[in-house]
Amino acid sequence: MGRNVDLVKTLDFQLEIQSGDEADLRFAARESRRAYNETVRLAKEGVESANIAPTVADEVDLVRNTTQRIVNKALDAVENGRSQADVCLPSHTKSDPYPIRANYTEGYDLTLDDGEVAFRISTKPYNPVRGVLRGSDVHLDLLKSALCGSGWEIGTAEALFRRGDPELHVTVTKTDAAVRRPEQSETIIGVDVNEDNVALAALSDDGVEETLVVEYPEVKSERHRYLTIRKRIQKAGKTSQFESLEQKEKRFVRDRLHKLSNFISEFANQFESPCIVFEDLKDIREGLDLGARMNQRIHRIPFGALQSYTTYKASFSGIPTMRIDPEYTSQMCAVTDCEHTTCSNRRKNRFRCRACGHQDHADRNAALNVAKRGVRALNWNVPALNNLPQVRKVRRRASGAVDAPSVTHDAGRGDQTDGVVGVFE
Ligand SMILES: [Zn+2]
Repeated sequence: MGRNVDLVKTLDFQLEIQSGDEADLRFAARESRRAYNETVRLAKEGVESANIAPTVADEVDLVRNTTQRIVNKALDAVENGRSQADVCLPSHTKSDPYPIRANYTEGYDLTLDDGEVAFRISTKPYNPVRGVLRGSDVHLDLLKSALCGSGWEIGTAEALFRRGDPELHVTVTKTDAAVRRPEQSETIIGVDVNEDNVALAALSDDGVEETLVVEYPEVKSERHRYLTIRKRIQKAGKTSQFESLEQKEKRFVRDRLHKLSNFISEFANQFESPCIVFEDLKDIREGLDLGARMNQRIHRIPFGALQSYTTYKASFSGIPTMRIDPEYTSQMCAVTDCEHTTCSNRRKNRFRCRACGHQDHADRNAALNVAKRGVRALNWNVPALNNLPQVRKVRRRASGAVDAPSVTHDAGRGDQTDGVVGVFE
């Protein structure tokens, strides 16, 4: 029993070309870029959307529905730029190759062939490129299930060159994924997302099952670095550099969010019938004041994206997610008999309750409060939280290695760090 939801996933493959010419793909990637640039240029000139597609289709040498897909994506980018507070339209002089967006069975096709997945990509009506897909077992397995099972839909794909090699990114949708209802959960996982760490707390009827603080200092420093470079480039008016830098930063952030959301989902998965609880995004920047603009740049996108990545990854394992009111989760004492709330309870990453003297890692305290609100929303009895396990910390470095945890400050009650290391991948 559960809700049925659509789960969309993008699967990445390398192309092993067996017939046709790779040069045709390269040509089509350049034509795709031309279609994109031309669409943006016309839109900026004020040409109506409905008139742009036919004009561009006549100019570029691509399968027609592929052109249509690229035009639509470019128009979305323009629309998106116009809706930003500081209107920021995309460049129409993009110089990177652009993905060839193709409709399933039209611009591209996939077939199961003797245990392998064969592809056909038509860049022009009579010049298909054919071969087989290579990639991770996980992605190949998913694609094979999608190709032969019911309850799956295969959607648009993008053919592109990454580090010089041709790839195909295929979107598949599982249309009947069953996600348990939050009410059917037995463990509530509170998630507290901060600028350079995520704190997790698992609560059951019996009390605290486990807590963990995952540190990622390099995400904060990388984003600050990009912000600085971006400002400099903007001042110098070099908009083409701006765009490729933005892509780089996006890739970096996406990669980290991807890993972090996997980690949260796996953390949840080790418990009996878990449900992941996030703070509702509206007020999530409580307690952080770096100026409104800075806050927006640094925090808003990753928080929202991390929640949606995690929600969707958890869904693949049938794990539901919930959102709770975030007010004062970082200032409230998590001890159930106390729950004293004041901003002076918290000082950086230390929490010390002014009323009862309870001490904890501030972000774990917040994660416990998030979990408790989830528990209340489900009308469970809230455990007392008198005995907290030690704080476990894992740190992820840019290399992907996980540092051994270390004690970083005086250990108060419930705030010792033990020697357990998680794997963040
Ligand atoms: Zn207290």
